[in-house]
Amino acid sequence: KGIKTAVDNKEFFLVYQPKWNVRDDCLAGFEALLRWNHPQFGLVSPGEFIPIAEKTRSIIPLTLWVLEEVSNQSKLWQKRGFAQPISVNFSARMFELEDLAKQVQFILQKVGLDPCLLEIEITETMILEDVERVTDQLEKIRALGIIISMDDFGTGYSSIGMLDQIPLDTLKLDRLFINDIETTSKRTIVHAIITMANSLNLHVIAEGVEVQEHIDILTELGCYIMQGYFYSKPMRVKEVEAWVQEQRKVSYKSIE
Ligand code: C2E
Ligand code: MG
Ligand code: MG
Repeated sequence: KGIKTAVDNKEFFLVYQPKWNVRDDCLAGFEALLRWNHPQFGLVSPGEFIPIAEKTRSIIPLTLWVLEEVSNQSKLWQKRGFAQPISVNFSARMFELEDLAKQVQFILQKVGLDPCLLEIEITETMILEDVERVTDQLEKIRALGIIISMDDFGTGYSSIGMLDQIPLDTLKLDRLFINDIETTSKRTIVHAIITMANSLNLHVIAEGVEVQEHIDILTELGCYIMQGYFYSKPMRVKEVEAWVQEQRKVSYKSIE
C-alpha cells in the first residue's frame, strides 16, 4: 500500500546509467534504476525497497510505472535526435501477469515508442522458477522487437544449460567478475563466458567497470560494452543531458 501511494505522490524517480561501446567509442544506451525519495527517511536505495515491493506485489504497478516513465523519456530524447535504448529491470513477479507482453505493448503504443529502444533485464533465478512459462512470455515480448538481457549473469543460480532456449540478446556479466578480473582464474572464466556468448550470438556487457585496467582486460577478452562508475554513476535526467553534451565535446575535440 505504501508503495502505491508513493507512486501517486511522485516520490519515485529514475536515474540513468550509461553503457559505453569502447570499440566504436560511442554511447550504447542506458539502464534505468529506481530511487525512492521518502518524505521521512530521505533517499531509499532499491536494495531496501525492491524486496518489500516484491513481497507485497506492488512491484507490478511500480514496474509498469517505470516502463511508462522510461518510454516517455526515451521518446523525448528520440525527438531531440538522441535515440538510445534504455533498459528496465524486471522482477520475477512480472511474469505472474498472464498478459505481460500485451501490457508492455500497450504502453509502447500509447507512447508511440519504437520497441527496439526498450530493453528488459531479467535474471537467471526468474527463469528457473518456471522455465516454460517465463520462456513463453519472453518470446512474446521479444517478438515485439524489445531487447532482452540477462542481468547479473554467472553468479546466481546457473541457467547455462538453457541459454540456447531462452529468448535472449545480451548477457550482462556480474560486477563480481569484474571486481577481481585481475586474477588469472577469474579472467579464464570471463573469457569462457564471452566465447560462449559469442558462439550463441549474444552480446556481452560488463557491469561495475570502475577502472581503466578493467576495460583493458575486458577488451582483450572480447567484451566491448561497459557499464560502471568509470563512465558515470546513475544520473538524473538533467545530469544525463549535460553528460551527453560533455561527451560530444570530448569526441569532437579528438576529431579536431
Ligand atoms: P542491477 O540491475 O544489477 O543494477 C546495477 C547496480 O550496480 C546499480 O545499483 C548501480 O548503481 C550499481 N553500479 C553501477 N556501476 C557500478 C560500479 O562501477 N561499481 C559499483 N560498486 N556499483 C555499480 P542500484 O541502483 O542500487 O540498484 C541495485 C539493484 O536494485 C539493481 O541491480 C536491480 O536489481 C534493483 N533495481 C533497481 N531499479 C530497479 C527497478 O526499477 N526494478 C527492479 N525490479 N529492480 C530494480
Ligand atoms: Mg540491471
Ligand atoms: Mg546487474
